[in-house]
Amino acid sequence: MIGSQTGWQALQDALARSSPACEGDERFISDGRTPTLSADLAVICAACPVLTACRTYATKARPHAMAGFWGGHWRGKPSQHE
Ligand code: SF4
Repeated sequence: MIGSQTGWQALQDALARSSPACEGDERFISDGRTPTLSADLAVICAACPVLTACRTYATKARPHAMAGFWGGHWRGKPSQHE
């Protein structure tokens, strides 16, 4: 099952219990990946209640197809759209 392999279902379960700390924060999908922004976003992720599930999903699930800051790290390339 794809959901269990990628951690998608675990992430959905975590999001059903808690709101992500990045909710509504468009810096997480910014193309301007400066060191200062990265550090600021990493602090937010570190305190996020769904960090573990988010990081697992971002690591396992087609990271090449993702763009943005997920689970403490930038994933994909800026302005990468499929
Ligand atoms: S850990 Fe994931 S859900 Fe939480 S703030 Fe970071 S990117 Fe958002």
